[in-house]
Amino acid sequence: MTINRRLFLGTTASITAATSFGVHTSMAADAKSTVNFALVGLGSLSTKQLAPALQQTKHAKLVGIVTGTPSKEKVWADKYGIKQENIYNYDNFDKLSENESIDVVYIVLPNGMHKEFTVRGAKAGKHVLCEKPMANTSDECREMIAACKENDRKLAIGYRCQFEPHNQHCIELARSEKFGSLKAIEAGFGFKIGDPNQWRLDGKLAGGGAMMDVGVYALQACRYISGEEPVSISAQETKTDPVKFAEVDESITWTMKMPSGVICYCSTSYAFNGINRYNAYADKGWFGLEPAYSYKGITGKTSKGPIELESIDQFAAEMDAFAKCILEDRDSTVPGEEGLRDMICVEAIYESIRTGRHIELPRA
Ligand code: NAD
Repeated sequence: MTINRRLFLGTTASITAATSFGVHTSMAADAKSTVNFALVGLGSLSTKQLAPALQQTKHAKLVGIVTGTPSKEKVWADKYGIKQENIYNYDNFDKLSENESIDVVYIVLPNGMHKEFTVRGAKAGKHVLCEKPMANTSDECREMIAACKENDRKLAIGYRCQFEPHNQHCIELARSEKFGSLKAIEAGFGFKIGDPNQWRLDGKLAGGGAMMDVGVYALQACRYISGEEPVSISAQETKTDPVKFAEVDESITWTMKMPSGVICYCSTSYAFNGINRYNAYADKGWFGLEPAYSYKGITGKTSKGPIELESIDQFAAEMDAFAKCILEDRDSTVPGEEGLRDMICVEAIYESIRTGRHIELPRA
């Protein structure tokens, strides 16, 4: 029997075919344990975090790249053994449909490009992992979800904190009511942004400022710690440098009321360093993390003492989790719908700033 190359590729369909043709068990098992990733956009996150993390993953493998910078092709090919036929640019990206050795495209481009490349990736038959924030608007998120559904592809958002042990422990403390019933959450994330010419300060490419870039981590924390969706949001913005932040928000504070009555008070900023935390207050104690959202060094405390847990590579955990969803044909725990829910809140925050009113959201 001739077994062609397609039978050995890491997709569920090819595994089924390989197994039914009686392929040697260990080869089928190998194929089954790995999902092949292509990184789309080789900027800072891909270079410094994702590619190194893909050297540690058990189920996700770096096999392809998509870049608009030809000089990066050889550098990445040499460093990571990327084959020429797995190297693409933004123009020939759709040709990925003819390449069965790539299963997942990981979109690591400026926020304003997430929708286009997610939709094109799904149409090319690829599962999509897309960086946060999911897109510039909730309508774009809906389009991305629809495109992945129509093409029967999985979609997940790069919410690495949900795979991080300290954050997972805090979720467990909240769900188990170890400190009683939750009353309030305080969360904030910000940093002083440098280069005034970067895409993060461009309205079209970034979709917003600090709120979209790092405020979403505080928003996420409130949602995953409470396990609830806000029903009322109120926000205020300040700009101390209206020239630098002409197109995007600089500093925002906002409050969110959850259906149970839990109140969340949050902040984000591009104007100063130092805020990187959340604290959850319950009727018999409190718990929280500071730093909460960094790549390393997450530190936790409760009213009864420190939280002592191992530190992991969050990106490796996030990519392995998505790979396992594909191998086991399960939906991601951080699907497109999770990104959409954040974006609905972000839009309510911006609407509250624009109108000076509380924004009521329908109960989820
Ligand atoms: P970056 O500026 O370092 O890289 C962006 C890449 O996009 C570059 O390779 C650039 O060449 C390419 N690009 C293509 N078209 C472009 C255009 N028109 N303008 C600018 N760049 C263009 O950005 P980054 O920090 O790698 O962020 C990429 C994405 O990853 C963003 O969505 C960001 O929010 C997200 N991110 C997530 C985390 C996390 O912890 N999950 C951390 C950093 C960034």
